[in-house]
Amino acid sequence: MLEALKAEVCEQNHELPANGLVVGSGGNVSGRDPETGLVVIKPSGVKFSKLTPEKMVVVDLEGTVIEGEMKPSVDTGIHLYIYRHRSDVFGITHTHSPYASSFAARGARIPAVTTPITHMLGRDVPCSRYATPGEVDTGAAIIEAAAGGWAVLVKAHGVFTMGKSATQATSIAMYLEEAAMTTHLALLHGPVDELPQSEIDRCYNWFNKNYGQAGQKQVKE
Ligand SMILES: [Zn+2]
Repeated sequence: MLEALKAEVCEQNHELPANGLVVGSGGNVSGRDPETGLVVIKPSGVKFSKLTPEKMVVVDLEGTVIEGEMKPSVDTGIHLYIYRHRSDVFGITHTHSPYASSFAARGARIPAVTTPITHMLGRDVPCSRYATPGEVDTGAAIIEAAAGGWAVLVKAHGVFTMGKSATQATSIAMYLEEAAMTTHLALLHGPVDELPQSEIDRCYNWFNKNYGQAGQKQVKE
């Protein structure tokens, strides 16, 4: 089970540079094993192209390394803070993807102006207060701003997305960046209408009932 999770977390880390969401070794994906509660995360400072499932680091919720030769990501404490406070989260993705982070740089939320992202989130993308880098303050700012949702911008920093798996969290990070880019481009032409929450709710419910194959996971991956 943990071997499968290592393979999934490694694969999803590779998706970040493949989709233009990160530069260098910045950004990270983790996943929580529902059986053991252990978390698999990217090692610190290793280039994405060099990542293999065997290099993934396994930690417990307090950050003790259970398996792996390398130090876990410097953001591990933030991931663990989120897992400790959100029992419904089994995957977390962190990026500094440029369009979404440009909203974060301004301390601005991403308004819900196109339907595809609302299918996944059921709301706009909130922006947290400024948080000192490090696990407790940033983790607390994310939990506060998310208010039970799946995506947050951290003011003056970047993007944290959550999901029921590492794959889902990464998928949300990709669609969130697309929505941020589209919204940014649309705003260049002038004001844009935000979708009313009643319509967002309708889209979200429709999508989650109909997307994908019957009996399979109901979220875009
Ligand atoms: Zn970061």
